[in-house]
Amino acid sequence: MMKRKIAIIGGGASGIMAAISASLTNKNITVTILERMDRIGKKILATGNGRCNFTNRNTSMYNFYGEEPDFVKNALEEFTVGDTVDFFGKIGILVKEEKDGKMYPYSNQASSVIDALRNKLYLLENVEIVTGFDVCDIKKVKSGFEIYSTDKKMCAADRVIIAGGGCAAPNLGSNGSCFKLLKKLGHGITKLSPALVQIKTTTEIVKGLAGIKFDGTAECYIDGEFTAKEEGEILFTDYGLSGPPIFQLSAIIGREWGKDIKIILDIMPEYEQREIYEILRQRREILSELSCENFFVGMINKKIGNVIAKKSGIEKLSLMIKNIDESIMRRMAKNIKNLEFRVIETNGWKNAQVTAGGVDTGEFERESMESKKVKGLYCCGEIFDIYGDCGGYNLQWAWSSGYVAGKNAARI
Ligand SMILES: Cc1cc2nc3c(=O)[nH]c(=O)nc-3n(C[C@H](O)[C@H](O)[C@H](O)COP(=O)(O)OP(=O)(O)OC[C@H]3O[C@@H](n4cnc5c(N)ncnc54)[C@H](O)[C@@H]3O)c2cc1C
Repeated sequence: MMKRKIAIIGGGASGIMAAISASLTNKNITVTILERMDRIGKKILATGNGRCNFTNRNTSMYNFYGEEPDFVKNALEEFTVGDTVDFFGKIGILVKEEKDGKMYPYSNQASSVIDALRNKLYLLENVEIVTGFDVCDIKKVKSGFEIYSTDKKMCAADRVIIAGGGCAAPNLGSNGSCFKLLKKLGHGITKLSPALVQIKTTTEIVKGLAGIKFDGTAECYIDGEFTAKEEGEILFTDYGLSGPPIFQLSAIIGREWGKDIKIILDIMPEYEQREIYEILRQRREILSELSCENFFVGMINKKIGNVIAKKSGIEKLSLMIKNIDESIMRRMAKNIKNLEFRVIETNGWKNAQVTAGGVDTGEFERESMESKKVKGLYCCGEIFDIYGDCGGYNLQWAWSSGYVAGKNAARI
């Protein structure tokens, strides 16, 4: 008798985990990964700055966003962070935990994660990998599904798991093509926008500060209304702003396109504006005989200080500190707490880590990841209208949802 077959479209993190989970659930099926690139797992290589932050100790459903963020709950409970650490331990990855619960392979090499996953797939006799298979159409037929590639190959399967990712970092494989497949199969796709990405702003301030980091807060205002606040390490770049708080805000900014968007940075979040003003007054006393370019030395980054000084009305930094007048000091205190940037755009799909928006989760069973509209069709990973915080959460979603989809699809 012909073995029943599951086809997995996409050999990224979630597709690989789905293949392993399906194969281990049912030894009497064939599992075929169809991958459009020449190798599977290309994106994994780029994760965590080449170190692969593959999960986070603190993962909970509150780290995820989308129309229905609690869609992640069941999968995260079924394949937990503990299960992820166990799983990777068993395939040879020694794990180390860093700040804020972020977990990496001890080797510090993302390549070791993909190597270990490939080795695991190699040992599973019922899994085959077909690369260079760029899926452009899926037909539901009586016996299951027919999957067509752009060069007119066909793969027949009893069940299909679509794990093709979103639109982020298309050079690593995920080019959004699977959204078209799902649309054609009758599924809704929510609004897509690049997330966990740098932001382009007006550049007159940031240009001279490129490369400088500070710990502060970033508030986002849309059409004048406060929308969100994030804190952490913020980086100035020659085109705008970067760093984890900016990445977090990028999803909101991507969605609100066309509106008036501002980011306001607080350089000294631990202090109230009046306290900063008092500090500045004291500094004017103790540093009175120096020039203004020394006014902020030892308080905030010198270059940021010079920008604040100029923005507050100091025309020449050679001015003696004792000659700074009260109104300028008040403006300095205000600017340290409210350094304002007008947002031009996000830094685009090419630089984004994930996709905000995706396949409508309401059309899928959260216990199995199976479509409520097309029997035998499953999804997992970033393709869903789900994305997580920066810090290992997105890969955890890929592992957990891939595990659940693979296990349930294999029960035939
Ligand atoms: C630079 C960068 C760094 C990141 N760092 C981290 C990190 O440290 N920690 C973290 O948790 N997350 C990180 N992420 C996010 C994380 O990598 C993704 O959320 C996760 O890989 C998504 O997995 P996925 O399997 O759903 O999709 P993907 O990894 O995108 O895989 C989809 C696969 O499907 C294939 N495919 C797509 N369409 C088709 C088609 N039509 N036919 C055949 N194959 C197709 C693609 O080629 C690809 O191999 C990072 C992302 C980027 C871009």
